[in-house]
Amino acid sequence: MRVTVDRGRCVGSGSCALAVPDVFDQDPRDGRVVLRTQAPGPQLSEATQEAADFCPVSAITVTGA
Ligand code: SF4
Repeated sequence: MRVTVDRGRCVGSGSCALAVPDVFDQDPRDGRVVLRTQAPGPQLSEATQEAADFCPVSAITVTGA
């Protein structure tokens, strides 16, 4: 699994960082998403996919298994 984020699209809702703090964080300056890893381990793949699905502006892209 590979993860990318579009910080320009992110509106800083913070739901991804709350749901999967090992993968997503929020920039303290503007609240936008910061990616902590581009390659989450398999134990995080389901939660990461859910975070992408629930992002209100589709700023998270997940590819691969
Ligand atoms: S859920 Fe989407 S909009 Fe909210 S902080 Fe994460 S990437 Fe940004």
